[in-house]
Amino acid sequence: MTSPEPNIGHISKRLMSGDFGASPSAFLIDRDGVINEHRSGRYVNDWPDFTFLPGTFDAFSALASTSNPVIVVTNQSGVGRGAMSALALEDIHKRMVEAVTANGGRIDAIIHCPHPPTVGCTCRKPAPGMFVSLASRFGVSLPESVFIGDTITDLVAGSAAGCRSILVRTGEGVRTITTTAGFPAFDDGTAFQAVSHQSLPGLTGIARNLNAAVAHVILGWGGLRTSAGPINS
Ligand SMILES: [Mg+2]
Ligand SMILES: [Zn+2]
Repeated sequence: MTSPEPNIGHISKRLMSGDFGASPSAFLIDRDGVINEHRSGRYVNDWPDFTFLPGTFDAFSALASTSNPVIVVTNQSGVGRGAMSALALEDIHKRMVEAVTANGGRIDAIIHCPHPPTVGCTCRKPAPGMFVSLASRFGVSLPESVFIGDTITDLVAGSAAGCRSILVRTGEGVRTITTTAGFPAFDDGTAFQAVSHQSLPGLTGIARNLNAAVAHVILGWGGLRTSAGPINS
């Protein structure tokens, strides 16, 4: 029996055709608590449960102006637990992509782990399996990519994958800061605060939300490296 694999969906024509170059650096983004509201103790099981966080469309609009793939990386164990069908998740992601696109944004792929923790897969964050898949499938250069998430699970996964990571204060973000030993105090009024953490190599900062994280990477870092040649189609 082969080990369970993550599921990659909604692959854009641009990513599929290699227009981002041979080893693109990518914007990797967690879903719940970063793109849409986190529902405490409950899954997002269908579209009415899905509420975009303020600033999300602005973030994706800014990302669309870059020459880097934009990929959502999400644990969705509700599928494996039987709380939601694979088809229902696909419908949520189709609508999410449509709404982002209609608002000037771009999502090039969505990778999710459908497995419950009991399966012991290597893709459920904090394991780095989804990142490894993106590297092998699309050549994503993990050390030059950035992962934006709201939980300690995200930060551990990002570190294990060798990515740079940014924690957002939306979703579980504030709880992550206050319950994780070794985090410095954060300034509520700041859009982006540079931080490092001994146990989380790659962690670079705390951002107010996805939009602030993206703005910091684009304006503060000058963006991610691009290797894209001319766009063919
Ligand atoms: Mg999350
Ligand atoms: Zn998995």
